[in-house]
Amino acid sequence: MNDKVQSAATEDELDMPIRTYVQTHVFVTFANPYLTCDKCEQPARSWHDPDQCGCGESGFQNQPCERRAGVTSTCPSWGPVDGCQCLQHLGRVLHGPAPAGGEG
Ligand SMILES: [Zn+2]
Ligand SMILES: [Zn+2]
Ligand SMILES: [Zn+2]
Repeated sequence: MNDKVQSAATEDELDMPIRTYVQTHVFVTFANPYLTCDKCEQPARSWHDPDQCGCGESGFQNQPCERRAGVTSTCPSWGPVDGCQCLQHLGRVLHGPAPAGGEG
């Protein structure tokens, strides 16, 4: 076994301090799994809350697409308690399954 370690990089090149500046943002998960982004129509699972985050950025951002846009629920009758109530309210469900994936 040869445990010889060759350091190819010179120390001079590594002189600059490496700072991993990673801001952990605060994201608030939407309760409604049927929400989609108004701009890109991707599922919007959560949004960035700069007030809670304190990162200094202004305005919310949809996640994961990171666009600043409104969100629209593909389900017109979604409620926080019962979820999709289209069957009860409209007699039938006119939309597809929750784009962001709901329970199950
Ligand atoms: Zn933030
Ligand atoms: Zn989007
Ligand atoms: Zn529905």
